[in-house]
Amino acid sequence: MSDTIFGKIISGDIPSEFLYEDEYCIAINDINPQAPVHVLVIPKQGIPRLVDAGADDQALLGHLMLVAGNIAREQGVGDAFRLVVNNGAGAGQTVFHLHLHVIGGAEFAEGRMAG
Ligand code: AMP
Repeated sequence: MSDTIFGKIISGDIPSEFLYEDEYCIAINDINPQAPVHVLVIPKQGIPRLVDAGADDQALLGHLMLVAGNIAREQGVGDAFRLVVNNGAGAGQTVFHLHLHVIGGAEFAEGRMAG
């Protein structure tokens, strides 16, 4: 567990509605959505950044991808969504507990979200 806001959400110290939970991860709505669907898939294990993951985390990382796909389907954006991992402050990471952004429900243009 990490001492970040996501660590506290996972431990229940900060109440949050889970869209999904299993042994390895949770999914929650992003508090500041960038699109109609903006869900965060967060491993329970507090890996700070993607580059901090190692070979031992291979199965977990694969699991997070599968969960992200399932969430996208369930949220109705299975045919058009973007999966984003910000790695490091220079790339816009603000919470140093690995998480996948599942973003969809808006038009994509030129590799960026439009509108
Ligand atoms: P990143 O910039 O990749 O580290 O993403 C962190 C994300 O967490 C941002 O999109 C925030 O809007 C989101 N966020 C921060 N606090 C919360 C919270 N309490 N519940 C849900 N999402 C949050």
